[in-house]
Amino acid sequence: MRCENPGRRCVHWHDDGAAAPRWQGVGRAVNGLRHEIGRVLAPAVDLIFPPRCPLCGDSIAAQSGLCAACWSELTLPGQPACAACQRPLSDRMATEAGSLCAPCLAKPPRHAGIFAGTLYDDASRRIVLAYKHGRRLALAPMMGRLIAARLGPLGPDWLIVPVPLHRWRLWHRGFNQAALLAREVQQRCGGTLVVDALLRQRRTRSLGGLGRKARRKELAGAIAVNRRRADRIAGANVVLVDDVVTSGATTDACVTALKHTGARDVRIACWARVLDQL
Ligand SMILES: [Zn+2]
Ligand SMILES: [Zn+2]
Repeated sequence: MRCENPGRRCVHWHDDGAAAPRWQGVGRAVNGLRHEIGRVLAPAVDLIFPPRCPLCGDSIAAQSGLCAACWSELTLPGQPACAACQRPLSDRMATEAGSLCAPCLAKPPRHAGIFAGTLYDDASRRIVLAYKHGRRLALAPMMGRLIAARLGPLGPDWLIVPVPLHRWRLWHRGFNQAALLAREVQQRCGGTLVVDALLRQRRTRSLGGLGRKARRKELAGAIAVNRRRADRIAGANVVLVDDVVTSGATTDACVTALKHTGARDVRIACWARVLDQL
């Protein structure tokens, strides 16, 4: 197990992959102990810091959840959906099994579907802001749970890969929000987590406000497969994890790099998916 920054949120950088068997045993024991300590201390923590809903501040039963009213505000993607990308379709558009949405009809995607925990709206946006910029990392299990519900169980041959952050941004933020979600997904769906399969080779501007062409230009060559992980990616099925999929420009760049290295199916899993109007 490799840790680039032991002692400081090291879990965010851990590589699952080439762990030596003896470390796996130690790791399991440490995880078990951590879980046990957490279970024993939870009532005391709840007494000192009563659990509050991160959206509205109401009291709730557990530290990592939402209140019932805020749960009902989240929009979960449902059926019918596009057979290629899982975009929800209206009954009128989904005339038969295997119906495709207009963007997929116009241009078949390179990925094997977008599995979103929620559709992006005010509630899911506030949660991702609290998680990413408000550092409410305790939201990760709840977010991962909804993503996993969409994704379903995975075979052991699947790799779980987060969208990478540039190392300066990682240093500044202290954690990769996609990597924490990827870990939650792996724990619930199976597969193997490979946190450093992709690297961001240079910093990119925020893509907000840029057009499709400008986004692609901004990302050209910015994301690449880690050469040390290329052997594992070749021939593997991959779940690529991000917090929010907006235009798909970033995930497209990741899918292109993974496919270029020989990945077979690449599914995209995210907390929230932004739907443009069709
Ligand atoms: Zn609430
Ligand atoms: Zn589609």
